Amino acid sequence: MSETKPMPSGYRGMWAWVDLDSRSVRVTPADPVLCRDYVGGRGLQARLLYEKLKAGGPLRDPLSPANRIIIGSAAANDTAIPTAGRGSCSFIGTMARSPESAAWVPGHKPLYGLITHSSAGGLFHNMLKRAGIDQLIIDGRADRPVRIEVVEGTVRIVDAEDSLFEKAGGRSVPRTASAITDELARKIKGSSTLCVGPAGWNLIDFACLTADYHRNFGRGGAGAVFGSKNLVAVTAYGKEPVPYAEPEEFKKLGQELDRIIKASVEDPNRTASFRPTTGTTWWLDRAFNGRYLGVKGGYLPWHNFDEGVFDSADYARVSTDAFLAISGKHNVCNKCRHIFCTRSAKVESGPYAGEGVRPEFETIALWINCCILDRDAIFHMNDLCNELGVDTMTFGSVMAGAMELSEKGFLSGYGSRLRFGDAAEMIQALKDIAYGANDLGRLLGHYTDRVIAEVAARSAPGALSDIAYCATTAYGGLGYAGINPKAFPGMFTAYGTSNRGRGDHTYAWTIQAEEGGLKEARDLAAYVAEGQAGKALVDSLGLCDFFTGDITAEPFLSLYRALTGIEYTADSLKACGRRIYDLERRINNAQGRDRTYDAFVPAKLKVPLTRGALQGRAVDEAFYNSVLDAYYDYWGWSRQGLVKK
Ligand code: SF4
Repeated sequence: MSETKPMPSGYRGMWAWVDLDSRSVRVTPADPVLCRDYVGGRGLQARLLYEKLKAGGPLRDPLSPANRIIIGSAAANDTAIPTAGRGSCSFIGTMARSPESAAWVPGHKPLYGLITHSSAGGLFHNMLKRAGIDQLIIDGRADRPVRIEVVEGTVRIVDAEDSLFEKAGGRSVPRTASAITDELARKIKGSSTLCVGPAGWNLIDFACLTADYHRNFGRGGAGAVFGSKNLVAVTAYGKEPVPYAEPEEFKKLGQELDRIIKASVEDPNRTASFRPTTGTTWWLDRAFNGRYLGVKGGYLPWHNFDEGVFDSADYARVSTDAFLAISGKHNVCNKCRHIFCTRSAKVESGPYAGEGVRPEFETIALWINCCILDRDAIFHMNDLCNELGVDTMTFGSVMAGAMELSEKGFLSGYGSRLRFGDAAEMIQALKDIAYGANDLGRLLGHYTDRVIAEVAARSAPGALSDIAYCATTAYGGLGYAGINPKAFPGMFTAYGTSNRGRGDHTYAWTIQAEEGGLKEARDLAAYVAEGQAGKALVDSLGLCDFFTGDITAEPFLSLYRALTGIEYTADSLKACGRRIYDLERRINNAQGRDRTYDAFVPAKLKVPLTRGALQGRAVDEAFYNSVLDAYYDYWGWSRQGLVKK
């Protein structure tokens, strides 16, 4: 740690090291050099994970006490920069792993879990910062259920109260996220809580953490890591304002940035213009039929990624407009301005009547991929996922695979009644998974390669490849996101190379560029790699994917200098993004990832789409491999996907 450089402004400048084994907490000054070189949030956390793994060696079991989970913020968090309410959580993921042999993967090599960064909005991360802590670094495992309080500079580990638990299936499990949050809010007035749900406690590999009732560290299994540590919740409360290097300059430049963001939201030719109304759900129409500045659509996943389009009358039941019809007031993250993607929602009557938030595009798309055409059931299930602590996206991918397995008879020994389009059975399966309530629930709550092996062991000899065919989450996949991976080679590359695991859509996004004609292997590779380095920066700055300003140009660079005192140029800031992505890849190499993982193409995705504007498209494995070559060259990695020493 460097102690000679002054700490930049903007940060609180303190890190809390929590050791659950010894029930001890150390609060130390932050390292100013790391804050400069790795920016904040995701970047700093990658570095802090790297230090742990360098000392202890690669982590073979993400559910062991040796996994480190870090929660925190960045210099920009809690400032007036629009969308400055996104917090970071990093750990070695539980879903993106395949440690045992897997005969359905050509050349399979063991994968022990990838570095996973998850971004969540809400208030919690800004409250943690107000409470005086930039990064909460949690190691070990408590010998009984505990929770953490961070209140006005003091960090305490306390026994989790019995009232946070209930009995389910003869076991004591945490109550729902809203019940835990309400209870802890009563204990510490004005606080904000991040908590595990029953799914995390039961070590479901795609369990999430829930902040402020419905903001999630969703992908990768953060909830399971909390569960493995006997950690129920973190509650934060504080009032400290952000320190600025040049407050007046920040105010002036902030107004300039505000005008830019506002103009982009008011420009009808930019996608930001409809975000305050539709949120992310505008992608439903764009992917289905090309509405909202798209082309012809044809890539909304249907029937476990078999197709990208289906009957239009059926689609109308779950379209962008269908979800607009139940949308209410904005319900946005702390410090969000202008962009405002989240709205409340209300279903007035019927079996799924209730109030909550409108589900996101990715969630809806992946449940449409299960052929669910009941909008109200989707609304209800989204609410249930928030309460039980289940990542909606991976749950959708797991369910699509399970429905196909079930219809083909492979799950009959587990009592499965899952069928495509059957919302009631899907809701039941969600509860069964979260609570580990029966054989089917216990089976489906694990990383996919374990599921494939277990089902194959109970099936006729020779069934293995047919079973693996159903599971696009195979070989350590998180599950593909809501754009059919057959449709766009660039998007398939983004999915295949994301540092947090196959199927992730947030690290690079190519649809607009590919619809606009981007198609050469080298161009696709460069576009994906630049997107990944840029996203590493956005996450490290504590901003949202939907921030519409340019973070590597003026006025943002001057604004950031007025906040922190750090004089980044466009090049030096971009270099931070590359450094962060490269370091994450280095960690992943040590965890078993190389080209074998990146190059895996699930057999199902080689079968062409038979309908719609993109009929005939499928993943072309040879072309994808040429993109991978160019991608590794771009990063300066070996053609085996290894970061060079
Ligand atoms: S645009 Fe949406 S996700 Fe981003 S900060 Fe605003 S409300 Fe949160």
